[in-house]
Amino acid sequence: MTAAALARLRECLGEASVLTDDAAVEPYLHDERRLYHGRTLAVLRPRDAAEVAAAVRICADFQLPMVPQGGNTGYCGGATPDESGREVVISLSRLRQIRAVDPLGFTLTAEAGVTLAELQAAAAGVARLFPLSMGSEGTCQLGGVLSTNAGGLAVLRYGTARELVLGLEVVLPDGRLWEGLTALRKDNTGYDLKQWFLGAEGTLGIITAAVLKLFPSPAAKETAWVGVSDLAAACNLLSRLREALGDNVTSFEYLTAESLALVAGLPGMPAPPLTGAPAFVLLEVSGRADDALREALENTLGSALARDEIGEVVLAASDAQRRAMWRLRESIPPAEKTLGGSIKHDVSVPLSALPALEAEARAGIRQRWPEARLSVYGHIGDGNLHFNVLAPAGALAEDFKARHGAAISALVHGAATALAGSFSAEHGVGKLKRDLLHASESPLSIELMQRLKQALDPVGLMNPGKLVG
Ligand SMILES: Cc1cc2nc3c(=O)[nH]c(=O)nc-3n(C[C@H](O)[C@H](O)[C@H](O)COP(=O)(O)OP(=O)(O)OC[C@H]3O[C@@H](n4cnc5c(N)ncnc54)[C@H](O)[C@@H]3O)c2cc1C
Repeated sequence: MTAAALARLRECLGEASVLTDDAAVEPYLHDERRLYHGRTLAVLRPRDAAEVAAAVRICADFQLPMVPQGGNTGYCGGATPDESGREVVISLSRLRQIRAVDPLGFTLTAEAGVTLAELQAAAAGVARLFPLSMGSEGTCQLGGVLSTNAGGLAVLRYGTARELVLGLEVVLPDGRLWEGLTALRKDNTGYDLKQWFLGAEGTLGIITAAVLKLFPSPAAKETAWVGVSDLAAACNLLSRLREALGDNVTSFEYLTAESLALVAGLPGMPAPPLTGAPAFVLLEVSGRADDALREALENTLGSALARDEIGEVVLAASDAQRRAMWRLRESIPPAEKTLGGSIKHDVSVPLSALPALEAEARAGIRQRWPEARLSVYGHIGDGNLHFNVLAPAGALAEDFKARHGAAISALVHGAATALAGSFSAEHGVGKLKRDLLHASESPLSIELMQRLKQALDPVGLMNPGKLVG
């Protein structure tokens, strides 16, 4: 039967778009963090939405489970096939068209395989901004970004991926194409169907294209690196900045000296603009040229300094210095990776509870694993902390993670839950956090999710074993 399925897929997509050779499929079989390694019947590489639909129809006919895969940068194993060898990986990386850019309507229509960096560049080409931005932007793709409802560095001002979408085109689990590519900003004609697929991690269908919202390109941008004593001081600074500059506050990132020390170990890193504080804020404000942003920022930081609420401040004096600041921040995940990876936690709590979350988690780790190294940073403007735990210096990372990962994660997630928080702020659920989802959501929430899954994918072929599947 599988031979017949492969023959149909080859006939439909062409020999070169159906990979079965061990070496050719290998890059598609493991996740970014190498937590999982699966097997596959074949990797399909369709070229457009019609080919995706045809491939899905054939897989549905033969009851073959399907795993959509974009840039494969996800952190929860959502794009990795299981070990059965029965699942078919459907890679969207050849859906590369930017179908339309409408500077007047402030929209851009692109296919699933366009990378986030390419979307930003296409918007910039018509003097518009596509604001989603994150460390993986050179590799992650629109379909994956929307399916994980990715967050990143400018959520504070522009929202998560979900908030940047006007319309979607989706191949349903039975192979039908839902053409919901509307560019309307107002449309109250029933249920908002696109929302079902945003953040669904490929369990309800395959996104093939989307209409995205664009924004005016900010003419002015100011970036600052600020020393702070702790997370409470950082949250206080955010509040003062928002009072003074409102929506001009675009990014507000927290990074501890611990995380910065890990980055210093990477080759070719710029020196931090200042050191010596226990933690730092990397912040950006942006707006119109006549917003007098620099003056307003200087005034706000100056008053905070005068009240001893913050430590030293460095304002980026050039675009090169600004980029160097961001490089330090974005290099934290790769720095952790070079040390064997961390036990990652992507937790969120209401902003006012952030300091308590960090204190609670730190105290718990220090008590039971005093030698463990911590890397604590995050998009705290969104109440989102990455509280990552690394093996003690000199210890074997794999061994430490295997022996202590579950207990450490239970502690950190417990601290977030006790403060009315979430165990997954922006990375999703995938395979990694599936049990946590079931343990933390109410039975009614799980039932509603399962009913939606059942309604769209009654045979359970679309990305099984992920999320509620
Ligand atoms: C260095 C680094 C920094 C990162 N920073 C951030 C950050 O700041 N914020 C953040 O939110 N994430 C971050 N991530 C995580 C990751 O980059 C994002 O989750 C990204 O959105 C995943 O996109 P992708 O194309 O790689 O998706 P993949 O990893 O390929 O897939 C992710 C999920 O989406 C599904 N999927 C993929 N394409 C489709 C499609 N077309 N239709 C339906 N389902 C699909 C997959 O089945 C899987 O469940 C970071 C990752 C790295 C490596």
